[in-house]
Amino acid sequence: MRFMKIHSFGPLEEKPCPICQSDDSSLVTVEPVFGEDFHVVRCRNCRLIRTNPSPSSEWKDCFYDPACNGIMAAQGRDFVYLPSEQRHPAYHSILKLLKSKLPAGARLLDAGCAVGGFVKTAENYSFEAVGCDYSETAVAYGKQHCNAPLFHGQADCLPFDDASFDVVTMLEVLEHFSDPFPALEEIRRVLCPSGTLLIETPNYLPYYYFERYLKKIKPLYCKATNKQHLPWYPFDHLTHWTSETLLRALATAGFKQCITHSIKNFRIDTPMDRPLSRLFRLYSSVGNGLYQLTKMASLDFRTALIATAVKQ
Ligand SMILES: [Zn+2]
Repeated sequence: MRFMKIHSFGPLEEKPCPICQSDDSSLVTVEPVFGEDFHVVRCRNCRLIRTNPSPSSEWKDCFYDPACNGIMAAQGRDFVYLPSEQRHPAYHSILKLLKSKLPAGARLLDAGCAVGGFVKTAENYSFEAVGCDYSETAVAYGKQHCNAPLFHGQADCLPFDDASFDVVTMLEVLEHFSDPFPALEEIRRVLCPSGTLLIETPNYLPYYYFERYLKKIKPLYCKATNKQHLPWYPFDHLTHWTSETLLRALATAGFKQCITHSIKNFRIDTPMDRPLSRLFRLYSSVGNGLYQLTKMASLDFRTALIATAVKQ
């Protein structure tokens, strides 16, 4: 790879399924990237899809080190944290959903807030909002340029007292953990009794079906979306959630009233050009409609997973 300055970023680690601890899995796909053959596998017991083996902390340190990775040298360690106006429509949709469940002035923590775009938007919905992120650079940028009330800290070691928040949000965060349970446990600690957790994460069921049954038309997908692979990002997304496994993980972490929500045309990523955008809206309507009709997790092809759960 042209941007790799060293032969390998380091070793990968074999781990059991974080939900059920099983080692028994079937192969979904192999993605060759950054000099590794990343294996995406599906647990035969609980059906969690994950990257296994996954990057070790040594691999990640090397990946983000400009001395080893030319992307980081060119764009900086935290290029992914730049504020994205494109996410604002999604933020409004999520905040409207939360507003319908919580009173004005509710205390909100956005865990994995990057530069705090969601936190600032939440203030306009009368939430008393703060954010927390593991990136010191992102937190410093958000404080300086967006005047956002942000704190530095890992999701599994939050710098807040017990029962400090009425609601915690995690947007595009859960998929980055190879084991989400330390973070979910920590979020339970900082939530007040009956506090709400909201998680938004990509829905990987369509891509799983694609790999399993539609492999032959993968080149068509790649041509239409101008991508070389399906969006597994297996070096960065270490767990690939479906509504079934997400709700199971939340229940396993001790949350109750775990449910998913449908939001019309929900999309948190960058916008598409016109023909593709029309196709996306059509797909989104079909996905939402099919789920409303059947309520079956095995037919849940909604464009993203949006789940809420309540602390017991
Ligand atoms: Zn499992």
